[in-house]
Amino acid sequence: MFKSHRKSQTELIVVPKSLQHKALDICHISHTGLDKTYQIVSNRYYWKGVYIDTKNFVLSCEQCIKNKSFTPKHAPPQSNRIPTRPGDYISVDIKGPLPNSGYVLTVLDHFSKHIVLYSLKNITAEAVSKHILNYISIHGRPSQILSDRGLQFTSEVFSLINKTLGIKLSHTSPFHPQTNGQTERLNPAIESSILTLQERGVNLQNALLIHQNIYNGLIHPSTGYTPNLLHFGRNLPLIFDTFDNNSEPLFLDKAHYVQDLLQQLNTAYELAYSTLTRKQVEQNNRLAKNSRPRALHVGDIVYLKSKGAFKTRFEGPYTIIAKRGEVNYTIQALDNKSARSFTVHVDRLRYAPGRKSHLISHDTAPNESKTRYFLRSSTHQI
Ligand SMILES: [Zn+2]
Repeated sequence: MFKSHRKSQTELIVVPKSLQHKALDICHISHTGLDKTYQIVSNRYYWKGVYIDTKNFVLSCEQCIKNKSFTPKHAPPQSNRIPTRPGDYISVDIKGPLPNSGYVLTVLDHFSKHIVLYSLKNITAEAVSKHILNYISIHGRPSQILSDRGLQFTSEVFSLINKTLGIKLSHTSPFHPQTNGQTERLNPAIESSILTLQERGVNLQNALLIHQNIYNGLIHPSTGYTPNLLHFGRNLPLIFDTFDNNSEPLFLDKAHYVQDLLQQLNTAYELAYSTLTRKQVEQNNRLAKNSRPRALHVGDIVYLKSKGAFKTRFEGPYTIIAKRGEVNYTIQALDNKSARSFTVHVDRLRYAPGRKSHLISHDTAPNESKTRYFLRSSTHQI
């Protein structure tokens, strides 16, 4: 059964109650936050109360609570110049080592927010430069590359690429580490997405493909458009889309198509540029204020930030049994009155709002074999 999407006039699949949990599970595959998950759900599926169900599902997702990192309270303001078109400048960054060994190379286009992720076995100058050359061969030569000051980027091979192709390499200044702030903020999302996908048995390469496909296909708050639209001039289906929802107007001749596309892209670029500018001002203002964490109360359910990099980030659940002064709380393992209690700083605690409803919804989860009913197979040959 289908229903028309109010704004875009595209067709939405009406999902029966028994399959709603599974639909949410698929749309939340890379453990994006509420806004992005709802974007995926609402562009595909419909049922009564779909927003509330999505909200409960995401806020109570145990993997998200455990793996998502805190937004850094004192994240550095972004002070680099704002690019005016895709390919203007990119930044490259390396994350790792991952729990099962290996590294992730991220290439981010600062205008479109389009990302490409590469898995690396080792960080060698040869491996990194090979992937950067591969990126450039597909996406074009950027006028500038931003990077951390890691050894790999200052190597002979990397400077050879720059000399050969004439790309200006801009290092993050040691006195202004915020220059590369954009990739630094991107990384926690990739990290938690990979961790949660790997927990489900997805290998690193595939986890990266799923993450980049979903990330690039969702509206980015700092531009108001999907990275794919700004980068390629069209929206691409997400990796799990099995039906073809063709809402784009049909163009019969290429010249008209190109003319129309260019006009639309020009408008999109102008709007994206003004949104980028406004968002940067807003972000700097927000970061300037030292935002205080949510106050916690006795009886709240929380997760505890674990120590050590790149492992499950939060442990729990715990319940708060006492408040000690302004910033410390005494916690105890949930529903275990004989467990040892201990006192921790509020900075290590994460509030879990929907935890109990999550436990209930699991009991009524539909079984796996029913999923095929609403995932129509595509009639469109790729
Ligand atoms: Zn999640």
